[in-house]
Amino acid sequence: MSRKKLINDTINYLKYYKEYNNYQVFADELKAPAEDPVFSFNDVSLKEKDIISEDLKNEKIKPGSENYKIQEVNIIKQQEVVSQPETDIEDWKSTASLEEFENTIKNCNKCRLLAGSRKQIVFGMGNPDADVVIVGEAPGADEDAQGKPFVGRAGKLLTDILKAINFTREEVYICNILKCRPPENRNPEPQEIVNCEPFLFRQLEMIKPKLILAVGAFAAQTLLRSKEPLGKLRGKFHLYNGIKMMVTYHPAALLRNPNWKRPTWEDVQLFRKEYDMLVKS
Ligand code: SF4
Repeated sequence: MSRKKLINDTINYLKYYKEYNNYQVFADELKAPAEDPVFSFNDVSLKEKDIISEDLKNEKIKPGSENYKIQEVNIIKQQEVVSQPETDIEDWKSTASLEEFENTIKNCNKCRLLAGSRKQIVFGMGNPDADVVIVGEAPGADEDAQGKPFVGRAGKLLTDILKAINFTREEVYICNILKCRPPENRNPEPQEIVNCEPFLFRQLEMIKPKLILAVGAFAAQTLLRSKEPLGKLRGKFHLYNGIKMMVTYHPAALLRNPNWKRPTWEDVQLFRKEYDMLVKS
């Protein structure tokens, strides 16, 4: 008997026992490999299953595949973003000064992922009675290390832009939508914005600026509750809670695309003109 035949007979024999005598075939690997089972998120017993988007739930993916791993990471990320443990910072709403406000939220852990990876929160800095507030997106590595907004290359460019329209950093107030650095400088997640934007709104309520300059799409869209792209929002004034607001490109975007410097220059000149008029009136 040939070796091949012997193996085939053995396989058939084991299959027979498995099928008819409930015999536990331990050498499953002898069987022809079955197709990978199709995996559905409906089978996953996750406590926070409801946080997975409908699209994701309906998607059929195979365990072990690259796509599966990516989705798995996404779920973990989402769980971390969505988890909002009760913090002991509820009294931040009644703080009397920006300094006190910052101290109250400095250990905020509403976004577990960001709270676990940041060095410190970047609350904002500048004149607490400023007429002008600049709102950006989120801290980067330099900001996270120093605890100050706009201190890297983009920050230097912002300082130069302000200087070009006769403002100093000290006379304005600078802050971001998110107070913590997203890992790898990724975009803020929607839930992170939801978690953090009340702090920004309260800052603006306390400072009561005459004008706001929103730099970048995230700042503009968050303050205006808009989904319009930045290209459509820039170049004109909007109103945020009765405060005039100009939208322009984020300095980091200008570093990547110098073609946006001219429209930015036009925006900030309009901004300065409006400021002069408001101050005179
Ligand atoms: S990003 Fe804002 S809400 Fe989220 S942990 Fe940091 S301070 Fe808290």
